[in-house]
Amino acid sequence: MPYRGSAPDKWDYVADVVVVGFGAAGMAASVTAYELGANVLILEKAPEGEHGGNTRVAGQGYLNTSSADKAVAYLTALCGPYAVPDPVVQVWAEEMCRNNDWLRSLGGDPQEHQHPPVGIEFPDLPGADCVHKFHDGPTYGYSLTWKLFERLVKERTISVLYETPGKELIQHDTTKEILGVRASRNDRWINVKARCGVVLTCGGFENNQEMIRNYLPGVPYCYTSGSPYNEGDGITMAMSVGADLWHMNNYAGPSMALKVPEVRTSFSMQALHFGKQMPGGMIVVGPDARRFTDEKFKTRHGKVPVNGRWLPLSTPCPMFMIFDQSLFSAGPLYDKHPSHGWTQIIERYDWSDDNSVELEKGWIRRADSISALASLVELDPATLEETVKRWNSFCDGGRDDDCGRKLMLAPIVNGPFYAVELSPSMLNTQGGPRRNEKGQIVRPDGAPIPRLYSAGELGSIYSYLYQGTGNIGECLAFGRISGRNAAAEQPWDAVGFD
Ligand SMILES: Cc1cc2nc3c(=O)[nH]c(=O)nc-3n(C[C@H](O)[C@H](O)[C@H](O)COP(=O)(O)OP(=O)(O)OC[C@H]3O[C@@H](n4cnc5c(N)ncnc54)[C@H](O)[C@@H]3O)c2cc1C
Repeated sequence: MPYRGSAPDKWDYVADVVVVGFGAAGMAASVTAYELGANVLILEKAPEGEHGGNTRVAGQGYLNTSSADKAVAYLTALCGPYAVPDPVVQVWAEEMCRNNDWLRSLGGDPQEHQHPPVGIEFPDLPGADCVHKFHDGPTYGYSLTWKLFERLVKERTISVLYETPGKELIQHDTTKEILGVRASRNDRWINVKARCGVVLTCGGFENNQEMIRNYLPGVPYCYTSGSPYNEGDGITMAMSVGADLWHMNNYAGPSMALKVPEVRTSFSMQALHFGKQMPGGMIVVGPDARRFTDEKFKTRHGKVPVNGRWLPLSTPCPMFMIFDQSLFSAGPLYDKHPSHGWTQIIERYDWSDDNSVELEKGWIRRADSISALASLVELDPATLEETVKRWNSFCDGGRDDDCGRKLMLAPIVNGPFYAVELSPSMLNTQGGPRRNEKGQIVRPDGAPIPRLYSAGELGSIYSYLYQGTGNIGECLAFGRISGRNAAAEQPWDAVGFD
């Protein structure tokens, strides 16, 4: 429950602007507010070293659009029937053109990451050629852009309280202004005063299975390859003070990945990567032991074409990757190189070169025949045998008549045979509290909740289709908008209440 009085008697910390969450959006909001003269405090749930959220383990690309008019056209087309109000689109488009200039002005080194048309996710949509992807620094490497973001905060006198999750917003009971944040620190509650405003930048609900069941289409569960600390806290906090929600059913997923209880985040299987050719036969089946998709299709951040529309990839759970000895012995099924992803960069799980350790752990199951394998993983043996036979006949004929797959058309013939259970996985959610063109969080009637702002993937602008690098780009754009508007508020303890 939100605090239902006026200001608490005692404040443990005081700042002009309190930012909840230290990822890209938190960086942009806090640095912007700081540069405008505000005293800024960041509350971060994770311990130091695991802060940075999805930003820390992302592919490190961010969008800088080359034309605001084209960016308006492109985002409008990406949203399609899930329209976003024009003023929000407009301000997003204008700010997205300024990301490089802003970072350069702070000492960053924006480098074009992929040269168009590479990396334009929907090249046929109007305005698509505005897309330009950047990262920081002369050479590309993991966490590169994040290292710049982290430095920009650390070289300023911006306090960061780690292991201090924001829990509730403190709202004045009559004016409805947000006065501060209740947080948990060292097993006790603290009250953090925000004299001007609060900016929520605490990411999405990638690790909140109840929200996933309630809001994401078609998945009874889903696991992240990003930060385990993003649990939808900002959504709960904002709802408790009257916020509307938007884009809750949109996310950068699903893909299919291995998830095991011992590791917090998911493992993507190399054999399923688009364009990656590996020896041996491999298919994916659903609980009915039948295939349901082109396993090697390059989805558009989880969306696939269905009857002339883009829809989330169907993921009938549980799913199983079925493969043969040739693929098993071709090398590790998982690429542990720390390029991006929480499992690679933070968990650093050391997958065995010959997959033997994971076989021993039971993450990979093995049997001498397809029907025995089916029994092991509780699939119908006769159906799985029929599915494999059908797949093998497609490979012999050079054409997948069921799903149109074109890559790795190799039969499953060399026993023993193997199965890995796959779960839906994602990069990030897009939904959260609805925001307006000033970055203010609004109620269902559109009225802003006074002194409450947001930025980043917590209620991002992306309602339907997504352009890669758009999330970090938007963190920068709305982080600046919300940071400067929060910093411009008159301190409530100077003006008092009615
Ligand atoms: C593997 C991967 C690759 C990706 N690649 C790209 C890419 O190349 N380009 C791109 O644009 N997007 C990419 N994305 C998506 C992008 O990383 C995120 O959408 C974006 O970084 C979100 O930034 P953010 O600041 O909103 O949230 P985050 O970076 O997730 O930061 C949120 C922070 O809030 C903290 N937090 C959570 N709850 C609380 C609380 N209650 N109180 C205080 N703190 C809290 C978290 O610990 C975290 O530090 C990728 C995502 C993944 C997982």
